[in-house]
Amino acid sequence: MKTAVVLLSGGLDSATVLALACQQGYACHCLSMDYGQRHRAELVAAARVAQVLGAASHRVVKIDLGGFGGSALTDANIAVPTGGVAPGIPVTYVPARNTILLSFALANAEVTGANDIFFGANAVDYSGYPDCRPEYVRAYETMANLATRAAVEGQRLTIHTPIIALSKADIIRKGIALGVDYAMTVSCYQATDDGRACGQCDACRLRRTGFEQAGVQDVTRYERLK
Ligand code: ZN
Repeated sequence: MKTAVVLLSGGLDSATVLALACQQGYACHCLSMDYGQRHRAELVAAARVAQVLGAASHRVVKIDLGGFGGSALTDANIAVPTGGVAPGIPVTYVPARNTILLSFALANAEVTGANDIFFGANAVDYSGYPDCRPEYVRAYETMANLATRAAVEGQRLTIHTPIIALSKADIIRKGIALGVDYAMTVSCYQATDDGRACGQCDACRLRRTGFEQAGVQDVTRYERLK
């Protein structure tokens, strides 16, 4: 059976990507990063998503991006914006996060013998992060195939980004068709410990609009609706 490493955040996008990878017949080794994010609810969600969708394994690796801060997601002194999605790269951008996450996935792939990494980057309904763009992913893949023993010995690595060009509504439609229960997932940047969403941050707004545009009931558990 072909194996893949799937980066699983516990959010809506990566849950859909895991379902797609499972559908394509991969034995999926899920990797979640405890990187110093504001809340742990998404890691709890990731474990549940991995179990329910039938992942081969789920591993949480702890790193400390809070040692640098520089983002509303890793520094408690920087507030998460709640006034609506604004142009430009927001303070929720975590410096070099996806490069760091992909590097852990790359190392994990080499150890597990996987030639495929699945990554839920999205460049349509997103927050303007530079490390979610297709040109970034292509460049990373080129680098990865120069970086590992597996690659130079002929095991070429592919980074799959199956939702990178989909709208949030299309991602939700695809996931529903695959049987994903989005009530399990947590997208909010500042969810409560039990996984309730704020309803006001960019991630909540993009997610809610996605459900509306998909014509699907929003199953998100909200802390309060304002
Ligand atoms: Zn939120």
